[in-house]
Amino acid sequence: MLGRRSALVATLTGGALVLATLVPYAGAAVGAPGDRLAPPPKVPTAVGYGGAVSSVDADASRVGLEVLRKGGNATDAAVATAAALGVTEPYSAGLGGGGFFVHYSARTGEVETIDGREKAPAAMPHDAFIDPETGEEYPFFPDMVTSGASVGVPGTPLTWEKALKKWGTRSLARSLRPAAKLARKGFIVDETFHQQTVDNQERFAAIDSTAELFLPGGSAPTVGSRFRNPDVAATYDLLARKGVDAFYRGPLAAEIAETVTAPPKTDDTDLPVPAGWVTTDDLAAYTAPDREPTHSTYQGLDVYGMAPPSSGGIGVGEALNILERYELSGMSPTEAYHHLIEASAISFADRGAYLGDSDHVDVPVDALLDDTFAAERACGIDPAAAQPKPVAAGDAYDFDGICEGPTGPGETARDTENLETTNLTVVDRWGDVVEYTLTIEQTGGSGITVPGRGFLLNNELTDFSTTYRADDPNRIEPNKRPRSSMSPTIVLAEGRPVLAVGSPGGSTIITTVLQILIERLALGRSLPEAVAAPRVSQRNAASTGAEPAFISTYGGALKSLGHRFAETPELGAATAIEIGSDGLLTATAEPWRRGGGSALVVRPAD
Ligand code: GLU
Repeated sequence: MLGRRSALVATLTGGALVLATLVPYAGAAVGAPGDRLAPPPKVPTAVGYGGAVSSVDADASRVGLEVLRKGGNATDAAVATAAALGVTEPYSAGLGGGGFFVHYSARTGEVETIDGREKAPAAMPHDAFIDPETGEEYPFFPDMVTSGASVGVPGTPLTWEKALKKWGTRSLARSLRPAAKLARKGFIVDETFHQQTVDNQERFAAIDSTAELFLPGGSAPTVGSRFRNPDVAATYDLLARKGVDAFYRGPLAAEIAETVTAPPKTDDTDLPVPAGWVTTDDLAAYTAPDREPTHSTYQGLDVYGMAPPSSGGIGVGEALNILERYELSGMSPTEAYHHLIEASAISFADRGAYLGDSDHVDVPVDALLDDTFAAERACGIDPAAAQPKPVAAGDAYDFDGICEGPTGPGETARDTENLETTNLTVVDRWGDVVEYTLTIEQTGGSGITVPGRGFLLNNELTDFSTTYRADDPNRIEPNKRPRSSMSPTIVLAEGRPVLAVGSPGGSTIITTVLQILIERLALGRSLPEAVAAPRVSQRNAASTGAEPAFISTYGGALKSLGHRFAETPELGAATAIEIGSDGLLTATAEPWRRGGGSALVVRPAD
């Protein structure tokens, strides 16, 4: 075991990286015919020095790279990139949402995090999603998500301000300027943005302010047209002048509360668009607390992730602790993926039983990340056969690592987390690292735009469980943050950062981040190969979600071990950066998922 650990640490610290052949450009069309404008090209892998940015969007990555080039640090670039994503990816992220910001400081050697998760309003009832007319829960999509009732108090503006104060060198005003400029000038609509608008047309058309902004002339902006958002530019200008206090207090806060409690719904929609509960007091009371990162180890590497209210750090960490017990590198792909699937199911069983907002419920973080607990949980894994799923949760309050025979069946948590959000990774020339996942939950969030302000409000409160059971750790409670799956992760080897990774994808975020780590750290793939590899996602359900390429390549052999698969077109849209010991950066984004991502480095290697 020790030899293997040292070998892995040595690979990541010795700069002996085997880089993948660069994946060819697979982004949006260039040289489109007629008067269609071409979106800027995207390159999913960039290798070089002096700093790097990776995000799903070419304009946003460029904004971040400019900040790095002009002497800004990783936090400055991350905030500027995130603000730009609020313009070009307004259905995934923006001022009306929340997220988790994970930071490594080269100066102190510490990993710290900011919890910018949305929060339930003080008046949110336990049965918020039950239709008073019928006594039944609103149908999830589009009814429940398109509602003031699903809107939590946004955390993104405060996260940006706080991150800049803690680690940045630039003002919020300066950090918002490129995004405001981009919003005024406009971005070129690509296939992804167009399709996301079409997919949400019914609910966007149900809200006056949203239809006006995102359905100009009554339909989705066409591919190749320029999309401008002067309203969000003006909102960024306001925050630049007055700070984020202008978001949480004063006229804008009053408008947000008014929009949530009386959504500007059109006269002719059939959607119920129930009102929510966010008040100006809720906005004024919002905080974005520092949270201790989760910490686990994988073969001598230190893995830092996001603590509750996210389940990401524990979900990834527990599965890694289980997998660390096996020589994955010596296994066939079938055996290795069998173990990945089994460990993931176990971790999700425990997530369902224990994970919620630790300000409201007791979450046994240390136990869930304890190697002895992992040893006991690994007892359920049969190397030759899939466990019947769902598997039962373990007892995080009483464990000794000793196998005690089969446990009863578990339950699959109802999964209402949407698959869209966004993620970015930044490294600067000083070696600081930011891994930041931000979201408004559903693609298009609640579908409700704050009139005249240019941004959508989240529907994050639909991430609460809707079991309505008092013992559910993720039950709806006033002033509580719904459980997240966001898994921004930074890996250190001997105190030095070697890898940062994160992804969107709702609950599949955990499995995507886990799989990329395993592909890179155990299965011998380069980082671009690890990100490109066909994905699989087992979340303690009878069937394992998997991309078509995964099923066609590995499905046959895995089925003979008893696994069942549910095909899903794509899983996640990751970004990641690997840092070699000589400072060589391998910045990576998706080659094709979500239309491909954009990785950039300050000084490309020859
Ligand atoms: N709401 C999800 C979470 O917090 C993120 C949404 C997504 O990834 O699309 O985990």
